[in-house]
Amino acid sequence: MIHLHDKSFEPFISSEEIDFAITNMAKQMDDDFFDEVPVFIGVLNGSFMVLSDLMKKYRGMCEVNFVRMASYEGTQSTGDVKQLIGLDQDLEGRTVVIVEDIVDTGNTVEELKAIFKEKKVKHLKIATLFFKPEAYKKEIKIDYVGIRIPNKFIVGYGLDYDGLGRNLPDVYQLAQ
Ligand code: 5GP
Ligand code: MG
Ligand code: MG
Repeated sequence: MIHLHDKSFEPFISSEEIDFAITNMAKQMDDDFFDEVPVFIGVLNGSFMVLSDLMKKYRGMCEVNFVRMASYEGTQSTGDVKQLIGLDQDLEGRTVVIVEDIVDTGNTVEELKAIFKEKKVKHLKIATLFFKPEAYKKEIKIDYVGIRIPNKFIVGYGLDYDGLGRNLPDVYQLAQ
C-alpha cells in the first residue's frame, strides 16, 4: 500500500506486465510501419514513460515529439475546450502515432484527432498504454492498446494523483 496526499493505493499492475504489453505494442507497430518513418507524438505529462520505453523497443526508423493539451484561455473559454501546445513540426503527409498514457472517456483522444486532422497528416494512429473499455464513450478506434483495465483510478508509470505518483515503476489502484 502506498499513500499519496489523502488517498491510499494498492498494487495493481507490475512493471513486468507493463514491459510485456509495451513490447507487444512495439512489435505491432514495427509490422505496420515497415515501409514508413512514423512520428511518435507523446501527450505530456502522462505519456513520458510509455513513449520512452516504447521507443526503445521499436526497431524501425522514427521521429519522436511531444505535445501538451491545455485549457483554452480566451474570451470564448468554456472550461472544456482544449488547445494543443508545443507542436513544432510540420506533419503534412506523415504517418503520426499519438501516444497516450490512458484513454478513459475518450474526450481527449477525440479532441486530439480533430486537431491532427487539420495538420494534413497521411495516417493518424492512436496508441494508449491503458484503456478503460467500460468508460469509453466514443466511436474512434484505438489502434494500439497495451492493457485493458476496469473503471478504476490508477497511478504510477507516468500517471499521477494531483502531481504525485508519476515516477512509480508499477501501477497502483485506488484502495476502497
Ligand atoms: P479521457 O476521459 O479524456 O479519455 O481522459 C482524460 C485524462 O484523464 C487522461 O489523459 C488522464 O490524464 C486522466 N485519467 C483518466 N483516467 C485516469 C486514471 O485512472 N488515473 C489517472 N492518474 N489519470 C486518469
Ligand atoms: Mg494522457
Ligand atoms: Mg493527471
